[in-house]
Amino acid sequence: MGYHPEFDQHWNNIATNLEPEGRALINGEFTEAAEGEVFATYSPADGRFITNIARGSKVDIDRAVAGARASFEAGNWSQVSIYHRIDVMNKLADLIEQNSERLAVLESLDMGKPVRECLHTDVAGSAKAIRYFASCIDKIYGNISPNTGGVGMITREPIGVVAAITPWNFPLYMAIWKVGSALAMGNSVVVKPSERASLTTIELGKLALEAGVPSGVLQVVPGYGHEAGAALGLHNDVDCVSFTGSHVTARKLMAMAGESNGKPVYVEAGGKTANIIFDSADMDAAIPAAAGAIFYNMGEVCFAGSRLLLPESKRDSIIEQLIEHSKLWIPDNPLKDRTMAGALVDGVHLERVQGFVDRAIADGATVMTGGHALHKESGGYYFAPTILTDVRSEMEIAQQEVFGPVLSVLTYQDEEDAVRLANDTNYGLAAALWTNDLSQAHRVAARMKAGNVWVNCFHGGDMSMPFGGYKQSGNTRDKGLIGFEKYTQVKSTWINIKD
Ligand code: NAD
Repeated sequence: MGYHPEFDQHWNNIATNLEPEGRALINGEFTEAAEGEVFATYSPADGRFITNIARGSKVDIDRAVAGARASFEAGNWSQVSIYHRIDVMNKLADLIEQNSERLAVLESLDMGKPVRECLHTDVAGSAKAIRYFASCIDKIYGNISPNTGGVGMITREPIGVVAAITPWNFPLYMAIWKVGSALAMGNSVVVKPSERASLTTIELGKLALEAGVPSGVLQVVPGYGHEAGAALGLHNDVDCVSFTGSHVTARKLMAMAGESNGKPVYVEAGGKTANIIFDSADMDAAIPAAAGAIFYNMGEVCFAGSRLLLPESKRDSIIEQLIEHSKLWIPDNPLKDRTMAGALVDGVHLERVQGFVDRAIADGATVMTGGHALHKESGGYYFAPTILTDVRSEMEIAQQEVFGPVLSVLTYQDEEDAVRLANDTNYGLAAALWTNDLSQAHRVAARMKAGNVWVNCFHGGDMSMPFGGYKQSGNTRDKGLIGFEKYTQVKSTWINIKD
């Protein structure tokens, strides 16, 4: 994709005229929070004020859940012809595409990622995901038990009212994975976006209404986690929570379920992905990919390849090339058309990332490049692509999720050692390995304690492939046909046959 300087102005023009919606969507109407409270949102790119957002509280959540329940029981989405649901969802995908530039700029301003990336990944991916979910609706069958003496029907019904609580790193896309599959199954959904990036999810509510999703079926209540989020977690009339975010919040939500109605809590949490380069790997492919694996989206990716495992003998030459590739990812204003990496989500996060790097240095790591903030004069929050060597597996930097552009390089002695290091983490979202030895590829892939394994690529797959983690990275899968299961109840109906 070439650089088109004329687009810089184009994106900035859209940004100037956005007038984003910051209110909650409850029962088909945009509304202020019941207590009238708002919080301001600023762009991490340059600190500009974007808008005020309704600060949803328990009162708003109660109203949204009651409306969602009423719409579910009314049956004007849960019980309609599946072909109607397919049409409406495809219309929603059309509307996302028709509004793609506005959505991309909104996302970029709100959370700092490059606008081109928002357009081609977040927004285009969201429309594709909705089409995929729609295309599955008439292909999900029940079963008939092999029993004799009666007809045993095993059917799937929508679970009811789904609470979707989403993160800020891919705000629209993560909301779509949940909302899209829950709606496809006929549920009503209350979505609580992250307070750090709520705007495209509110916009999604608007587009869903326009596409024909009935009032009350999709409610969007922005607000803080400990307020609106907790009110959903503790609600007795929510049938399941579908959550993407940190494992710390995940545990709180599980506890809230225990304190309330025991609803299932489905979790997609963080990661500490090991990216292993073996001796025989195609280095021309593996090295640039290793840079992209950690620096893409400023490292604010749950599956970021944050631990690079190298053979001792090739360490120095690989690092030398990696430093060259890291220059591609030096962040810049996300509204510039050629920008590959933008700003971190906010100042608090920037300080958190800096803290991890500082402690890693104190623990004995060596900074090969980066290690500090950039472009402070912009008023935004930028961090240099950072490569740390002399990292040992027990160090904090090798164990905790930084969620920033910080790569830890570790070395291994042999294949056994590489496998041991890769699995030496409480996370288990993903692992990648690079090798030209087919047997080694199969051997090592099978031993990775991770929900997603990529061989000779990083982040391969599409909507048909389930995504989720082992260990504290999660307890469910999004995408693929399996992704729908959590939004359904299984009903066993036995019909007696008289002799
Ligand atoms: P977070 O846990 O801080 O917040 C996620 C959501 O939970 C937000 O909407 C927040 O408001 C809400 N929340 C926070 N505290 C809450 C509480 N007490 N009760 C109810 N809700 C509460 O996570 P984050 O910082 O927004 O996102 C980053 C994390 O998300 C990282 O760990 C990242 O790896 C993970 N993530 C995982 C995936 C995946 O698919 N596995 C995808 C994207 C992000």
